[in-house]
Amino acid sequence: MTTGEYYNSEETLSRDALEALQTQRLKETVSRCMRSPFYKERFRENGISPEDIKSLDDLKKIPFTTKQDLRDTYPFGMASVPLKDCVRLHSSSGTTGNPTVILHSAKDLSEWANAVARCLWMVGCRPDDVFQNTSGYGMFTGGLGFQYGAEKLGMLTVPAAAGNTLRQIKFFTDFGTTVVHAIPSYASRIYEVMRDKGIDPRRDTKLRILAIGAEPHSEDTRRRIEDMLGVKAYNSFGMSEMCGPGVAFECPEQNGMHIWEDYYIVEIIDPVTLEPVPDGQVGELVLTTINREAMPLLRYRTRDLTRIIPGECPCGRSHRRIDRIKGRSDDMIILRGVNIFPIQVEQILMQFSELASDYLITLDTEGGNDAMTVEVELSGNHFDDYTALQRLEKEITRMLRDEILVTPRVRLLPKGALPQSEGKAVRVRDNRKQYQ
Ligand code: ADP
Ligand code: ZN
Repeated sequence: MTTGEYYNSEETLSRDALEALQTQRLKETVSRCMRSPFYKERFRENGISPEDIKSLDDLKKIPFTTKQDLRDTYPFGMASVPLKDCVRLHSSSGTTGNPTVILHSAKDLSEWANAVARCLWMVGCRPDDVFQNTSGYGMFTGGLGFQYGAEKLGMLTVPAAAGNTLRQIKFFTDFGTTVVHAIPSYASRIYEVMRDKGIDPRRDTKLRILAIGAEPHSEDTRRRIEDMLGVKAYNSFGMSEMCGPGVAFECPEQNGMHIWEDYYIVEIIDPVTLEPVPDGQVGELVLTTINREAMPLLRYRTRDLTRIIPGECPCGRSHRRIDRIKGRSDDMIILRGVNIFPIQVEQILMQFSELASDYLITLDTEGGNDAMTVEVELSGNHFDDYTALQRLEKEITRMLRDEILVTPRVRLLPKGALPQSEGKAVRVRDNRKQYQ
Protein backbone atom coordinates (compact mmCIF):
# COMPACT_ATOMS: atom_id res chain seq x y z
CA MET A 1 0.00 0.00 0.00
CA THR A 2 1.23 3.48 -0.79
CA THR A 3 -1.40 5.20 1.37
CA GLY A 4 0.09 8.31 2.87
CA GLU A 5 2.63 8.56 0.10
CA TYR A 6 1.33 10.54 -2.82
CA TYR A 7 3.21 11.84 -5.84
CA ASN A 8 1.22 15.11 -6.08
CA SER A 9 -0.67 16.95 -3.36
CA GLU A 10 -3.60 17.34 -5.80
CA GLU A 11 -4.38 13.62 -5.42
CA THR A 12 -5.98 14.12 -2.02
CA LEU A 13 -7.66 17.53 -2.48
CA SER A 14 -11.09 17.76 -0.87
CA ARG A 15 -14.00 17.63 -3.32
CA ASP A 16 -14.62 21.37 -2.83
CA ALA A 17 -11.00 22.28 -3.47
CA LEU A 18 -10.88 19.98 -6.49
CA GLU A 19 -14.02 21.54 -7.95
CA ALA A 20 -12.68 25.05 -7.35
CA LEU A 21 -9.50 24.10 -9.22
CA GLN A 22 -11.56 22.55 -12.03
CA THR A 23 -13.71 25.67 -12.34
CA GLN A 24 -10.70 27.95 -12.58
CA ARG A 25 -8.98 25.69 -15.12
CA LEU A 26 -12.18 25.30 -17.15
CA LYS A 27 -12.53 29.07 -17.49
CA GLU A 28 -8.90 29.39 -18.57
CA THR A 29 -9.35 26.56 -21.04
CA VAL A 30 -12.47 28.06 -22.59
CA SER A 31 -10.81 31.42 -23.10
CA ARG A 32 -7.78 29.66 -24.60
CA CYS A 33 -10.12 27.79 -26.98
CA MET A 34 -11.20 31.09 -28.49
CA ARG A 35 -7.82 31.07 -30.25
CA SER A 36 -8.76 27.81 -31.95
CA PRO A 37 -10.48 28.46 -35.31
CA PHE A 38 -12.71 25.44 -34.70
CA TYR A 39 -13.95 26.39 -31.22
CA LYS A 40 -14.30 30.05 -32.07
CA GLU A 41 -16.72 29.11 -34.82
CA ARG A 42 -18.47 26.47 -32.65
CA PHE A 43 -19.17 29.04 -29.93
CA ARG A 44 -20.35 31.62 -32.46
CA GLU A 45 -22.71 29.14 -34.18
CA ASN A 46 -24.23 28.19 -30.84
CA GLY A 47 -24.53 31.76 -29.58
CA ILE A 48 -22.30 31.22 -26.56
CA SER A 49 -19.39 33.29 -25.36
CA PRO A 50 -16.58 32.37 -22.94
CA GLU A 51 -18.19 34.59 -20.28
CA ASP A 52 -21.20 32.23 -20.21
CA ILE A 53 -19.00 29.54 -18.66
CA LYS A 54 -18.67 30.49 -14.98
CA SER A 55 -19.19 27.19 -13.18
CA LEU A 56 -18.84 23.45 -13.77
CA ASP A 57 -22.57 23.34 -14.31
CA ASP A 58 -22.21 25.72 -17.27
CA LEU A 59 -20.15 23.08 -19.07
CA LYS A 60 -23.35 21.57 -20.42
CA LYS A 61 -23.94 24.71 -22.51
CA ILE A 62 -20.97 23.71 -24.65
CA PRO A 63 -21.64 21.26 -27.52
CA PHE A 64 -19.78 17.92 -27.58
CA THR A 65 -16.60 17.50 -29.60
CA THR A 66 -16.36 14.28 -31.62
CA LYS A 67 -13.73 12.27 -33.43
CA GLN A 68 -15.36 13.48 -36.64
CA ASP A 69 -14.59 17.08 -35.61
CA LEU A 70 -10.94 16.08 -35.23
CA ARG A 71 -10.98 14.53 -38.69
CA ASP A 72 -12.73 17.53 -40.22
CA THR A 73 -10.11 19.92 -38.83
CA TYR A 74 -7.16 17.68 -39.78
CA PRO A 75 -4.34 18.46 -39.39
CA PHE A 76 -4.10 21.73 -37.43
CA GLY A 77 -7.55 23.34 -37.40
CA MET A 78 -8.22 22.59 -33.73
CA ALA A 79 -5.01 24.10 -32.31
CA SER A 80 -5.24 26.94 -29.79
CA VAL A 81 -1.65 28.08 -30.22
CA PRO A 82 0.49 28.86 -33.29
CA LEU A 83 2.47 25.88 -34.57
CA LYS A 84 5.73 27.49 -33.52
CA ASP A 85 4.65 26.91 -29.89
CA CYS A 86 4.11 23.18 -30.44
CA VAL A 87 6.91 20.67 -29.96
CA ARG A 88 5.28 17.34 -30.84
CA LEU A 89 2.32 15.81 -32.59
CA HIS A 90 0.83 12.36 -32.23
CA SER A 91 -1.48 10.93 -34.82
CA SER A 92 -3.81 7.96 -34.66
CA SER A 93 -4.45 6.11 -37.88
CA GLY A 94 -8.10 6.37 -38.83
CA THR A 95 -9.52 3.29 -40.47
CA THR A 96 -12.03 5.50 -42.22
CA GLY A 97 -11.26 8.97 -43.57
CA ASN A 98 -8.53 11.22 -42.22
CA PRO A 99 -6.38 10.27 -39.27
CA THR A 100 -6.52 12.54 -36.22
CA VAL A 101 -3.75 14.75 -34.93
CA ILE A 102 -3.04 15.90 -31.36
CA LEU A 103 -0.56 18.74 -30.85
CA HIS A 104 1.48 19.30 -27.69
CA SER A 105 3.39 22.26 -26.30
CA ALA A 106 6.45 21.73 -24.07
CA LYS A 107 4.26 22.36 -21.00
CA ASP A 108 1.71 19.80 -22.24
CA LEU A 109 4.43 17.16 -22.47
CA SER A 110 5.69 17.98 -19.01
CA GLU A 111 2.17 17.75 -17.51
CA TRP A 112 1.59 14.48 -19.33
CA ALA A 113 4.82 13.01 -17.96
CA ASN A 114 3.72 14.11 -14.49
CA ALA A 115 0.37 12.31 -14.86
CA VAL A 116 2.08 9.08 -15.92
CA ALA A 117 4.66 9.37 -13.13
CA ARG A 118 1.80 9.88 -10.66
CA CYS A 119 0.13 6.67 -11.89
CA LEU A 120 3.33 4.63 -11.65
CA TRP A 121 4.18 6.01 -8.21
CA MET A 122 0.67 5.14 -7.04
CA VAL A 123 1.24 1.43 -7.72
CA GLY A 124 4.56 1.39 -5.94
CA CYS A 125 7.16 2.24 -8.60
CA ARG A 126 10.22 4.00 -7.14
CA PRO A 127 13.49 5.37 -8.55
CA ASP A 128 15.33 2.12 -7.81
CA ASP A 129 12.99 0.20 -10.14
CA VAL A 130 13.91 -0.83 -13.69
CA PHE A 131 11.10 -0.07 -16.11
CA GLN A 132 10.76 -1.84 -19.47
CA ASN A 133 8.28 -0.64 -22.06
CA THR A 134 7.03 -3.16 -24.63
CA SER A 135 4.86 -0.62 -26.49
CA GLY A 136 5.56 0.55 -29.99
CA TYR A 137 7.30 3.94 -29.94
CA GLY A 138 6.50 6.58 -32.50
CA MET A 139 2.96 7.74 -33.12
CA PHE A 140 1.46 5.26 -30.63
CA THR A 141 1.29 7.17 -27.35
CA GLY A 142 1.94 4.11 -25.15
CA GLY A 143 5.61 4.35 -26.15
CA LEU A 144 6.76 7.91 -25.49
CA GLY A 145 3.96 8.51 -22.95
CA PHE A 146 5.24 5.85 -20.56
CA GLN A 147 8.87 6.63 -21.40
CA TYR A 148 8.72 10.24 -20.20
CA GLY A 149 6.58 9.38 -17.17
CA ALA A 150 8.93 6.62 -16.04
CA GLU A 151 11.97 8.88 -16.52
CA LYS A 152 10.29 11.69 -14.62
CA LEU A 153 9.74 9.33 -11.71
CA GLY A 154 13.43 8.51 -11.90
CA MET A 155 13.41 4.82 -12.80
CA LEU A 156 16.05 3.30 -15.04
CA THR A 157 14.13 2.90 -18.29
CA VAL A 158 14.53 0.22 -20.95
CA PRO A 159 12.77 1.45 -24.12
CA ALA A 160 12.65 -2.03 -25.63
CA ALA A 161 9.63 -1.14 -27.86
CA ALA A 162 7.28 -3.66 -29.44
CA GLY A 163 7.95 -7.20 -30.58
CA ASN A 164 10.98 -9.50 -30.41
CA THR A 165 9.76 -11.39 -27.38
CA LEU A 166 12.98 -13.33 -26.88
CA ARG A 167 14.93 -10.08 -26.65
CA GLN A 168 12.35 -8.66 -24.21
CA ILE A 169 12.87 -11.68 -21.96
CA LYS A 170 16.67 -11.41 -22.22
CA PHE A 171 16.40 -7.78 -21.11
CA PHE A 172 14.22 -8.79 -18.14
CA THR A 173 16.89 -11.17 -16.91
CA ASP A 174 20.00 -9.16 -17.89
CA PHE A 175 18.84 -5.76 -16.64
CA GLY A 176 16.80 -6.93 -13.65
CA THR A 177 13.57 -5.40 -14.95
CA THR A 178 11.03 -4.96 -12.13
CA VAL A 179 8.22 -3.02 -13.88
CA VAL A 180 6.78 -3.70 -17.34
CA HIS A 181 4.24 -1.93 -19.47
CA ALA A 182 2.45 -4.26 -21.89
CA ILE A 183 -0.93 -4.64 -23.51
CA PRO A 184 -2.77 -7.62 -21.96
CA SER A 185 -2.59 -9.81 -25.07
CA TYR A 186 1.18 -9.29 -25.18
CA ALA A 187 1.65 -10.02 -21.47
CA SER A 188 0.18 -13.48 -22.08
CA ARG A 189 2.40 -13.96 -25.10
CA ILE A 190 5.52 -13.11 -23.06
CA TYR A 191 4.60 -15.78 -20.55
CA GLU A 192 4.04 -18.40 -23.23
CA VAL A 193 7.46 -17.75 -24.76
CA MET A 194 9.07 -17.87 -21.29
CA ARG A 195 7.43 -21.20 -20.60
CA ASP A 196 8.56 -22.62 -23.93
CA LYS A 197 12.14 -21.56 -23.13
CA GLY A 198 12.00 -23.02 -19.63
CA ILE A 199 12.17 -19.61 -17.94
CA ASP A 200 10.25 -19.25 -14.68
CA PRO A 201 9.34 -15.60 -14.15
CA ARG A 202 9.31 -16.01 -10.36
CA ARG A 203 12.68 -17.72 -10.20
CA ASP A 204 14.53 -16.15 -13.10
CA THR A 205 13.32 -12.51 -13.13
CA LYS A 206 12.68 -9.68 -10.67
CA LEU A 207 9.37 -8.69 -12.27
CA ARG A 208 6.90 -7.34 -9.69
CA ILE A 209 4.63 -4.73 -11.30
CA LEU A 210 2.86 -4.75 -14.64
CA ALA A 211 0.95 -1.84 -16.15
CA ILE A 212 -1.59 -3.36 -18.52
CA GLY A 213 -3.97 -1.38 -20.65
CA ALA A 214 -4.77 0.05 -24.05
CA GLU A 215 -7.32 -2.67 -24.76
CA PRO A 216 -10.37 -4.01 -22.94
CA HIS A 217 -9.73 -7.02 -20.71
CA SER A 218 -11.64 -8.80 -17.99
CA GLU A 219 -10.84 -9.24 -14.30
CA ASP A 220 -10.12 -12.93 -14.98
CA THR A 221 -7.59 -11.99 -17.64
CA ARG A 222 -5.82 -9.74 -15.13
CA ARG A 223 -5.72 -12.50 -12.49
CA ARG A 224 -4.35 -14.92 -15.06
CA ILE A 225 -1.58 -12.53 -16.02
CA GLU A 226 -0.75 -11.98 -12.34
CA ASP A 227 -0.60 -15.72 -11.69
CA MET A 228 1.43 -16.47 -14.79
CA LEU A 229 4.09 -13.81 -14.27
CA GLY A 230 4.03 -13.59 -10.48
CA VAL A 231 3.33 -9.82 -10.54
CA LYS A 232 0.67 -7.32 -9.53
CA ALA A 233 -1.04 -6.05 -12.69
CA TYR A 234 -2.68 -2.62 -12.76
CA ASN A 235 -5.16 -1.43 -15.33
CA SER A 236 -4.03 1.64 -17.26
CA PHE A 237 -6.44 3.73 -19.32
CA GLY A 238 -5.75 6.47 -21.82
CA MET A 239 -6.20 7.60 -25.38
CA SER A 240 -4.27 9.75 -27.83
CA GLU A 241 -6.89 12.49 -27.80
CA MET A 242 -6.36 12.91 -24.04
CA CYS A 243 -2.53 12.77 -24.45
CA GLY A 244 -2.27 8.99 -24.08
CA PRO A 245 -1.59 6.90 -20.98
CA GLY A 246 -2.01 8.66 -17.64
CA VAL A 247 -5.72 9.50 -17.87
CA ALA A 248 -6.89 6.89 -15.34
CA PHE A 249 -5.05 4.14 -13.48
CA GLU A 250 -5.77 1.62 -10.77
CA CYS A 251 -4.45 2.18 -7.27
CA PRO A 252 -3.23 -0.67 -5.03
CA GLU A 253 -6.88 -1.43 -4.15
CA GLN A 254 -7.35 -2.74 -7.74
CA ASN A 255 -10.95 -1.69 -7.66
CA GLY A 256 -11.53 0.86 -10.41
CA MET A 257 -9.23 3.46 -11.99
CA HIS A 258 -8.74 6.91 -10.48
CA ILE A 259 -9.33 9.41 -13.25
CA TRP A 260 -7.26 12.54 -12.65
CA GLU A 261 -9.82 15.26 -12.13
CA ASP A 262 -7.28 18.08 -11.94
CA TYR A 263 -6.51 17.22 -15.59
CA TYR A 264 -9.96 16.26 -16.87
CA ILE A 265 -13.59 17.00 -16.17
CA VAL A 266 -15.45 13.71 -16.31
CA GLU A 267 -19.02 13.21 -17.53
CA ILE A 268 -20.84 9.94 -18.23
CA ILE A 269 -23.71 10.29 -20.66
CA ASP A 270 -26.35 8.13 -22.23
CA PRO A 271 -24.98 7.75 -25.80
CA VAL A 272 -28.49 7.93 -27.26
CA THR A 273 -30.18 10.75 -25.31
CA LEU A 274 -26.83 12.49 -24.55
CA GLU A 275 -28.12 13.22 -21.03
CA PRO A 276 -25.96 12.52 -17.96
CA VAL A 277 -26.50 9.17 -16.23
CA PRO A 278 -26.39 8.80 -12.43
CA ASP A 279 -23.19 7.59 -10.74
CA GLY A 280 -22.93 3.81 -10.92
CA GLN A 281 -24.71 3.52 -14.26
CA VAL A 282 -22.85 2.63 -17.46
CA GLY A 283 -22.67 5.21 -20.23
CA GLU A 284 -20.23 6.93 -22.56
CA LEU A 285 -17.24 8.68 -21.05
CA VAL A 286 -16.99 12.36 -22.01
CA LEU A 287 -13.82 14.25 -21.08
CA THR A 288 -12.80 17.92 -21.07
CA THR A 289 -9.06 18.64 -20.87
CA ILE A 290 -8.40 21.42 -18.35
CA ASN A 291 -4.66 21.79 -18.29
CA ARG A 292 -3.68 21.50 -21.91
CA GLU A 293 -2.28 24.44 -23.87
CA ALA A 294 -1.78 23.50 -27.49
CA MET A 295 -5.01 21.69 -28.22
CA PRO A 296 -7.62 21.58 -25.46
CA LEU A 297 -10.73 19.49 -26.17
CA LEU A 298 -14.10 20.39 -24.71
CA ARG A 299 -16.58 17.64 -23.87
CA TYR A 300 -14.87 15.05 -26.06
CA ARG A 301 -17.01 11.97 -26.69
CA THR A 302 -14.58 9.09 -26.16
CA ARG A 303 -17.02 6.34 -27.28
CA ASP A 304 -15.72 4.28 -24.34
CA LEU A 305 -18.37 2.77 -22.12
CA THR A 306 -17.82 2.73 -18.38
CA ARG A 307 -19.35 3.91 -15.12
CA ILE A 308 -18.33 5.93 -12.09
CA ILE A 309 -17.75 3.65 -9.11
CA PRO A 310 -19.73 5.28 -6.32
CA GLY A 311 -18.11 5.90 -2.94
CA GLU A 312 -14.67 6.79 -1.67
CA CYS A 313 -11.53 4.77 -2.18
CA PRO A 314 -9.70 3.51 0.91
CA CYS A 315 -6.37 4.68 -0.61
CA GLY A 316 -7.29 8.26 0.28
CA ARG A 317 -7.25 9.72 -3.21
CA SER A 318 -10.27 11.95 -3.78
CA HIS A 319 -10.36 11.63 -7.57
CA ARG A 320 -13.28 9.48 -8.66
CA ARG A 321 -12.85 5.99 -10.06
CA ILE A 322 -14.10 4.61 -13.36
CA ASP A 323 -14.81 0.94 -13.86
CA ARG A 324 -13.03 -1.26 -16.42
CA ILE A 325 -13.91 -0.16 -19.94
CA LYS A 326 -16.73 -2.32 -21.17
CA GLY A 327 -15.89 -1.60 -24.80
CA ARG A 328 -16.25 1.19 -27.28
CA SER A 329 -19.78 1.99 -28.36
CA ASP A 330 -18.54 1.27 -31.90
CA ASP A 331 -17.18 -2.19 -30.83
CA MET A 332 -20.66 -3.34 -30.02
CA ILE A 333 -21.77 -6.31 -32.10
CA ILE A 334 -25.41 -6.36 -33.08
CA LEU A 335 -26.29 -9.97 -33.76
CA ARG A 336 -29.89 -10.83 -34.62
CA GLY A 337 -30.91 -7.66 -32.82
CA VAL A 338 -29.00 -8.49 -29.63
CA ASN A 339 -26.26 -6.12 -28.43
CA ILE A 340 -23.05 -7.95 -27.50
CA PHE A 341 -19.62 -6.72 -26.37
CA PRO A 342 -16.56 -8.87 -27.09
CA ILE A 343 -15.58 -8.52 -23.41
CA GLN A 344 -18.70 -10.52 -22.44
CA VAL A 345 -17.39 -13.43 -24.47
CA GLU A 346 -13.93 -13.04 -22.95
CA GLN A 347 -15.34 -13.04 -19.43
CA ILE A 348 -16.85 -16.47 -20.02
CA LEU A 349 -13.86 -17.97 -21.83
CA MET A 350 -11.39 -16.91 -19.15
CA GLN A 351 -13.29 -18.91 -16.55
CA PHE A 352 -12.06 -22.14 -18.17
CA SER A 353 -8.55 -23.15 -17.15
CA GLU A 354 -8.41 -25.45 -20.20
CA LEU A 355 -8.44 -22.36 -22.45
CA ALA A 356 -5.56 -20.03 -23.37
CA SER A 357 -5.96 -16.25 -23.73
CA ASP A 358 -6.33 -15.98 -27.49
CA TYR A 359 -9.75 -16.01 -29.06
CA LEU A 360 -11.46 -14.72 -32.19
CA ILE A 361 -15.13 -13.97 -32.82
CA THR A 362 -16.23 -14.29 -36.46
CA LEU A 363 -19.57 -13.07 -37.71
CA ASP A 364 -21.03 -14.43 -40.92
CA THR A 365 -24.28 -14.50 -42.82
CA GLU A 366 -25.61 -18.03 -43.20
CA GLY A 367 -28.87 -18.63 -45.03
CA GLY A 368 -29.82 -14.99 -44.54
CA ASN A 369 -29.18 -15.13 -40.77
CA ASP A 370 -26.38 -13.81 -38.62
CA ALA A 371 -24.09 -16.49 -37.25
CA MET A 372 -21.33 -16.22 -34.67
CA THR A 373 -18.31 -18.49 -34.35
CA VAL A 374 -16.03 -18.30 -31.34
CA GLU A 375 -12.60 -19.81 -31.88
CA VAL A 376 -10.40 -20.22 -28.85
CA GLU A 377 -7.04 -21.83 -28.23
CA LEU A 378 -6.56 -24.59 -25.66
CA SER A 379 -3.94 -23.97 -23.00
CA GLY A 380 -2.45 -27.47 -23.11
CA ASN A 381 -2.84 -30.64 -25.08
CA HIS A 382 -6.41 -31.72 -24.47
CA PHE A 383 -6.88 -33.31 -27.88
CA ASP A 384 -6.32 -36.85 -26.65
CA ASP A 385 -9.64 -37.17 -24.93
CA TYR A 386 -12.32 -36.55 -27.55
CA THR A 387 -15.28 -36.98 -25.19
CA ALA A 388 -13.84 -34.52 -22.68
CA LEU A 389 -13.25 -32.06 -25.50
CA GLN A 390 -16.85 -32.35 -26.68
CA ARG A 391 -18.09 -31.89 -23.15
CA LEU A 392 -15.95 -28.76 -22.77
CA GLU A 393 -17.19 -27.33 -26.07
CA LYS A 394 -20.79 -27.91 -24.98
CA GLU A 395 -20.26 -26.29 -21.60
CA ILE A 396 -18.63 -23.20 -23.14
CA THR A 397 -21.47 -22.91 -25.65
CA ARG A 398 -24.05 -23.13 -22.88
CA MET A 399 -22.37 -20.49 -20.75
CA LEU A 400 -21.94 -18.15 -23.72
CA ARG A 401 -25.60 -18.54 -24.63
CA ASP A 402 -26.64 -17.66 -21.09
CA GLU A 403 -24.49 -14.52 -21.21
CA ILE A 404 -25.07 -13.20 -24.74
CA LEU A 405 -28.49 -14.73 -25.46
CA VAL A 406 -27.49 -16.20 -28.83
CA THR A 407 -25.95 -19.61 -29.42
CA PRO A 408 -22.52 -19.35 -31.00
CA ARG A 409 -20.58 -22.14 -32.69
CA VAL A 410 -17.55 -22.87 -30.50
CA ARG A 411 -14.31 -24.23 -32.01
CA LEU A 412 -11.43 -25.32 -29.82
CA LEU A 413 -8.03 -24.95 -31.45
CA PRO A 414 -4.52 -26.10 -30.59
CA LYS A 415 -2.16 -23.53 -29.05
CA GLY A 416 -0.77 -21.05 -31.58
CA ALA A 417 -3.44 -21.73 -34.22
CA LEU A 418 -4.88 -18.21 -34.19
CA PRO A 419 -3.00 -15.43 -36.01
CA GLN A 420 -0.92 -13.17 -33.69
CA SER A 421 -1.31 -9.42 -34.20
CA GLU A 422 1.58 -6.99 -33.72
CA GLY A 423 -0.33 -4.31 -31.83
CA LYS A 424 -3.69 -4.43 -30.10
CA ALA A 425 -5.37 -7.84 -30.44
CA VAL A 426 -8.03 -8.25 -33.13
CA ARG A 427 -10.99 -9.95 -31.41
CA VAL A 428 -13.79 -9.59 -33.94
CA ARG A 429 -13.92 -10.33 -37.65
CA ASP A 430 -17.19 -9.23 -39.18
CA ASN A 431 -17.68 -10.84 -42.60
CA ARG A 432 -21.27 -9.66 -42.76
CA LYS A 433 -20.42 -6.10 -43.78
CA GLN A 434 -19.46 -6.98 -47.34
CA TYR A 435 -23.01 -8.18 -48.01
CA GLN A 436 -24.74 -5.10 -46.62
P1 ADP B 1 -6.67 3.96 -31.24
O1 ADP B 1 -7.89 4.82 -31.23
O2 ADP B 1 -5.90 3.93 -32.51
O3 ADP B 1 -6.87 2.59 -30.63
P2 ADP B 1 -5.45 4.91 -28.81
O4 ADP B 1 -4.18 4.24 -28.56
O5 ADP B 1 -5.57 6.32 -28.49
O6 ADP B 1 -5.67 4.75 -30.29
O7 ADP B 1 -6.57 4.05 -28.11
C1 ADP B 1 -7.39 4.55 -27.12
C2 ADP B 1 -8.50 3.59 -26.86
O8 ADP B 1 -8.00 2.33 -26.39
C3 ADP B 1 -9.44 4.05 -25.79
O9 ADP B 1 -10.38 4.97 -26.30
C4 ADP B 1 -10.07 2.74 -25.35
O10 ADP B 1 -11.09 2.34 -26.24
C5 ADP B 1 -8.93 1.77 -25.47
N1 ADP B 1 -8.29 1.60 -24.16
C6 ADP B 1 -7.22 2.27 -23.67
N2 ADP B 1 -6.91 1.84 -22.43
C7 ADP B 1 -7.81 0.89 -22.10
C8 ADP B 1 -8.04 0.05 -20.95
N3 ADP B 1 -7.27 0.12 -19.87
N4 ADP B 1 -9.08 -0.79 -21.00
C9 ADP B 1 -9.87 -0.86 -22.08
N5 ADP B 1 -9.72 -0.14 -23.18
C10 ADP B 1 -8.69 0.74 -23.21
ZN1 ZN C 1 -7.62 4.31 -4.63
